[in-house]
Amino acid sequence: MKYYAKPLNRLINELSKLPGIGGKTAQRLAFHILSMDEKEALALADSIKDAKTSMRYCSICGNLTDVDPCVICSDDSRDKSLICVVESPADVVAMEKIREYRGYYHVLHGAISPMDGVGPEDINLKSLITRLHDDEVRELIIATNPNIEGEATAMYIARLIKPSGIKVSRIAHGIPVGGDLEYADEVTLLKAIEGRREL
Ligand SMILES: [Zn+2]
Repeated sequence: MKYYAKPLNRLINELSKLPGIGGKTAQRLAFHILSMDEKEALALADSIKDAKTSMRYCSICGNLTDVDPCVICSDDSRDKSLICVVESPADVVAMEKIREYRGYYHVLHGAISPMDGVGPEDINLKSLITRLHDDEVRELIIATNPNIEGEATAMYIARLIKPSGIKVSRIAHGIPVGGDLEYADEVTLLKAIEGRREL
């Protein structure tokens, strides 16, 4: 991309690494950023830096947090008998928005996908097993995405946990197959939790 001056080229290059941002969009965003007033543009840069340096993964549930343990894990008023297993921190946000679920979470950071070479040891599963040694946990609600990887992960966890006597349930499929939990609307997600079935 020799048409651009070096700093502009670098900005376009970095932006194009973001999901859903192709070369054209990256160029449009870069020109937009350069047209912003300096204060605004630097606030954007600063917010990326600040979020990146202050956010980490909760040592208990794996959720993104600026304090460890995260505010959810530190909340004693929640139902200690329930852990909802999700694929990503964005899914925790989706679940929290419906304000119905009052248990805890466990974030896997992915799903089992043999096709992509992602096995059980590649996701945040070991720490979930450790958490189940706490006698208060009675039910695991598996809320992985309703696609092949999400289903495979749910089945794997169910088989792994069931012998321990802990109930393992799967959220109902109000969520379209192949869909993303993160993008489900709140009513659909609420129905999906209410209609969960035991695995
Ligand atoms: Zn946590």
